[in-house]
Formats: sequence, structure tokens, C-alpha cells
Amino acid sequence: MNKIKSKDRIIAWPRMGRIDIPLKALLVSLGANVIIPPSNNNKALEIGVKNSIEGICLPYKLNLANYIMALDKGANTLMMFQAPGSCRLGNYTKMAQKTLKKLGYDFDMVIFDMYQSKMKQTLQAFWHVTHCLNPFKYYKGFSLGFNKFFAIDKAEKLLFYTRPREINKGDAENCYNKWLKIIDETNSVLRAKHLVRNIENDFAKINIDKDKFVPIVYLIGEFFVLLDPFTNQNIEKTIGEMGIEVQRQIWFGDWLEHVLKPSFLYHKLSHRERSVIYAKDYMKRPIGGECIETIGDTVYAAKHGIDGIIHISPFSCMPEIVAQNILPKVSRNENIPVMSLVLDEQTGKAGYITRIEAFIDLVKRRHRKNLADKV
Ligand code: SF4
Repeated sequence: MNKIKSKDRIIAWPRMGRIDIPLKALLVSLGANVIIPPSNNNKALEIGVKNSIEGICLPYKLNLANYIMALDKGANTLMMFQAPGSCRLGNYTKMAQKTLKKLGYDFDMVIFDMYQSKMKQTLQAFWHVTHCLNPFKYYKGFSLGFNKFFAIDKAEKLLFYTRPREINKGDAENCYNKWLKIIDETNSVLRAKHLVRNIENDFAKINIDKDKFVPIVYLIGEFFVLLDPFTNQNIEKTIGEMGIEVQRQIWFGDWLEHVLKPSFLYHKLSHRERSVIYAKDYMKRPIGGECIETIGDTVYAAKHGIDGIIHISPFSCMPEIVAQNILPKVSRNENIPVMSLVLDEQTGKAGYITRIEAFIDLVKRRHRKNLADKV
């Protein structure tokens, strides 16, 4: 495990949304060398599929491909995020390690066990890969990392709100891309702390139609597909361009804060806790993955006037298969339209666009009717 000296380590981790930006800031602040594999794409998918057993879920295939691509570029230390629960994520690390060794790669794998209040273990894992003992560097790294996570979340939320209302098509997307670049380049803690406010101010300058008829749809489901635009085929953009405000229910910053902060410092109701409360008539306890979040979010949406639910999951994901089987009952009982989309390496965009269009049509009609009933 300790065979690589910290100065010789070149660290890589799997791609998922824009996790690369804050994590790079954190590790570089601790003096680490990092390699970021390319964003998930068809080539990564091809590599992942070729080196995985067929029935394994899509996130594993892409994670494995990210590792292979990073090792080919010179990485020698791989970080893996693991969470408890009865889904296959718990076995990924061992499977990936075995496959990569079989392919002839030499590396050290460092596991981050992501569960509530794991700050101590996380610090130990960071120490293991960097051997950094300077508390100021930890302060800088974590401040930059957390503020960048929150800034990315804020920029995405504003993108989802602004996109269906913008007067000039593309303004919101351009603003978002501009801020991603600024967030990535920010290297001072003070400036990182002002990112969220500056992003809000900049988005507020975009010309929008505030009175436009814009229904709201919750995007829910499995963690990885929700956060990875390649896997979900940029579904948020597709729905936003159909004149719908998307509200995703999983956010990296929120999730990390809950996972890493000691419980005595975390005073909010976490997404998981909220889900357990709202799902209680349909599920008694979490069963792994985001199953209970999917059910809880749907009930929560129905009780808070949301117009519809789009549920996405990777093919063969057991927790989401369970959720998908409960959702029709939730939809009927709570009176909210739900559409489930299962994504895999064969999913063609054209096929699922037609389904989304039909669903959005239904959501818009329902929203119009609800507005008319209120008058
Ligand atoms: S939640 Fe589903 S897709 Fe995600 S790791 Fe677990 S089994 Fe795989």
C-alpha cells in the first residue's frame, strides 16, 4: 500500500460531473500531482464495456475506463469512493483492482469510505496520498474544494432556472461555462468564498421572461447518472430547452457536506433524512443506492406542487429497479406524473427524446389546467 513515495505519486479518480474541479484544487493545495482522465465519452465507454462483465452497471464500466485512461497517461495512485449499502458499489473497488492488475497495471488504490461523519478517515486518506502535514495547506485545500463544490452547484441551479426563461437562446449556457472556467482557475480562498455571490449577480444580469409559463420537473434517480452528462445524454439541457425548469435533487456540495461534516456540526435535514420521512408509506428503510431518495423525492414533489418527475437510472441497477416498481403506486396515490428512463450503453438519444417530449406535453397540459383551476 505504501510502496509509492508521496513525491512520486500521480493521483487520478473517476470522472463524474465536474468533481474534477474541486478535487484537483484540494489535492494540488496539498502538494499532489494529479492526472484527470478525459470526460466520459464513447471511447471511455468502449474501454469500459470491453473490460467488464456484461451485467455490471454502467457507472462501474465508465469508472474502470477512467482508471485505464489515467494509468495510460502515467497515474500510479487511484482514488475510489465507496459507500455502504446493499448495492454493487461496495464491490467495485475489489473488482476494479483485480481487473486492472490482470491487465498488467501497477498502482496503489486508496479507498474513501463515504459515509456520514467520515472527516477523520478522509483526512487520513488524503494524508496517505500526499503525506502533507501542513495544517494551513489542509485549510486552503478544503476551503477551496468546498467553495468550488458549492459554486458549481449554484451555477447549475441558476442554469436550470434561467435556461427555459432566457430571451436570447444560449445566454445561460454561456454564463455557466464562463463560471466553470473561473471556478477552475480560482486559487485564493478569499475569492473562492465570493464565487457563489458573484455567480448569482452575473446570472441576474441575463435577460429573462419572468412571466413565462414554466412548469417544474424534478430529475431524480441514481447518483452517477444524475451527475454525469455523458451517461444521461445531457438530459437537463434537453428538458430545459423544452421550456421546463429542471430541479435536480442530488447536489455534490450538499452530499459532501453531509458525508464529511461531523454530525454535531451538521444542522440541516439531509437529503437522505428527508427522503426517509417522505417515503415512509412506501418503504420502511433504505435498501442501498438512491432507492429511498427516489421514492421520498417523488412524494415530496407531489406535496410541494411540482408538475412531474423524470426518474433516470442505469440499466441493471437493483436499487432503482426496486424504486421503478414502487413508483407507479406513488404516482397514483400522490397524483403526480412520473416517467422512468433506463439508460445503458445502447440507449440512443432519438428514442428517448420522443418519450420525453410526450411526457413534457402531458406535464404542460396538467400545469395549465392547475393554473386555470386556481383562477
Ligand atoms: S446504485 Fe445502481 S448503478 Fe449505482 S453503483 Fe449501485 S447498483 Fe450500480
